[in-house]
Amino acid sequence: MYTARNYVVAASPEEAWELNQKKANAILGGGCWLRLGRRRYDTLIDLSGLSLDEIRLEGDTISLGAMVTLRQVETSPLLRESFGDYFSRCTRHIVGVQFRNCATVGGSVAARFGFSDPVTALLPLGCQVELVKAGRIPLEQYAAMPYDRDVLTHIHIPLPKYGRPVYESVRNTQTDLPVLTCAVAREENGLAAALGGRSGRPSLLRGADRDGLVEQAMKLSYVDNLRAGADYRRHLAKVLLNRACAQLEGGEQL
Ligand SMILES: Cc1cc2nc3c(=O)[nH]c(=O)nc-3n(C[C@H](O)[C@H](O)[C@H](O)COP(=O)(O)OP(=O)(O)OC[C@H]3O[C@@H](n4cnc5c(N)ncnc54)[C@H](O)[C@@H]3O)c2cc1C
Repeated sequence: MYTARNYVVAASPEEAWELNQKKANAILGGGCWLRLGRRRYDTLIDLSGLSLDEIRLEGDTISLGAMVTLRQVETSPLLRESFGDYFSRCTRHIVGVQFRNCATVGGSVAARFGFSDPVTALLPLGCQVELVKAGRIPLEQYAAMPYDRDVLTHIHIPLPKYGRPVYESVRNTQTDLPVLTCAVAREENGLAAALGGRSGRPSLLRGADRDGLVEQAMKLSYVDNLRAGADYRRHLAKVLLNRACAQLEGGEQL
């Protein structure tokens, strides 16, 4: 468990950014990941006074504040109306309800874990992230960037224009970290897909059709670890992409 000398509820995003420039300080999301470490922080910066816990419709975009919990994402009527069960499918296996009531979407996206269900789900949707200093940038860019000390305030999700996306994941046991995550969405000129749990951060693929995605996925590297071997993960990538594309193409359940 970490310790901290000070705790500050930031009065503005700019104040949070200023405080976060010091290496000994850290932004506190839900604290679920931070608490696994044993670091001694100087100041923990709480964003809970900045009204970042709301899911809002803004024109043709749904905006998630960084302090929105994974449980809010899972149960939001607004997200369900436009995306069906997509966001519930990408969050409901993450540990348990009490955990998801605490862990935030901002902490999940800022951490950019390779196994991240939310990052995998958000990547093929053409989302943008909003950062205090860098402003709005594509999630695709943010997901590949080295870590810096900017503060994430929002994630902006465009409403789906070409049908609902599909989310798939495989776990060895129900609430374990995923062995592989997969999300596929239609775009104007084809398909966008993300694969997580592979090796490194979740990556975005684009292809004209299902075969194009599978071909690219077969060329990616996959990690061998205690959850699964690289060959098994590569095989799963093909299965999950095929399964997701079949559902996109006509409700077929493989
Ligand atoms: C036991 C366990 C099992 C898990 N299983 C899964 C799983 O199956 N699938 C999955 O996708 N995830 C899983 N996770 C990850 C979890 O869902 C969250 O992503 C994680 O806890 C981070 O969210 P948090 O709100 O707790 O962030 P915190 O722990 O508060 O912060 C995480 C990091 O992000 C930084 N940070 C937080 N918010 C911001 C912000 N707004 N701007 C900039 N930096 C910020 C913090 O400084 C810290 O470095 C698991 C985590 C744990 C502890």
